[in-house]
Amino acid sequence: MFKSKVQLENMAVEDRIRRAKKMLSQINPDKVKDDLKKLERAIEETWSYMKEIGVNEICKKCAEETGSCCKEWVEDEVDDVMIVMNMLMGVKMPEKRFKEGFCYFLSENGCILKVRPTICVNFLCDKITKTIGFENEKKLQEIAGRELELGFIVREKILKQLSFYFLERNSSKSYRLPSHSREKISST
Ligand code: SF4
Ligand code: SF4
Repeated sequence: MFKSKVQLENMAVEDRIRRAKKMLSQINPDKVKDDLKKLERAIEETWSYMKEIGVNEICKKCAEETGSCCKEWVEDEVDDVMIVMNMLMGVKMPEKRFKEGFCYFLSENGCILKVRPTICVNFLCDKITKTIGFENEKKLQEIAGRELELGFIVREKILKQLSFYFLERNSSKSYRLPSHSREKISST
């Protein structure tokens, strides 16, 4: 049977992946196909701008030195709906954890997810902000904000298809939008 809200929040990542696989069979991908394409483009734009301003290079170097900041606790921000969204975008889930003490979704080439939690999309450490400067940081946040908004929209559409799930919860910590985005969505 389906789990209660508390059980869901305590669910191990492997269980969330199993549950997401079951949920996938309840979804008609055609109903979210166009939104997923828009979201995928927005995600690519975020990555492209990060590359342009040197964030990827900074993180790559840092990961080689420190093992990355993708710690294990962050994986709990990735709930089953987010896993479903990634699966719908063709992301293959890992069979096992790549590195002990680190996020389940981390691979030797970085994060395997296309749709990532807000904390991962928004997080810029001091090393990055000091290097890229305020203007680039501001522009990156604007671009990433679009990715988060579209992710929120797709998530809501998927939840509508999963009525049983929708009864259990209608939002998730994985999709906390910045306040300006929430205002924008409610006014559209
Ligand atoms: S965000 Fe900062 S701490 Fe994390 S990998 Fe990139 S440079 Fe390192
Ligand atoms: S960016 Fe990906 S691998 Fe890193 S903490 Fe976030 S979900 Fe995990």
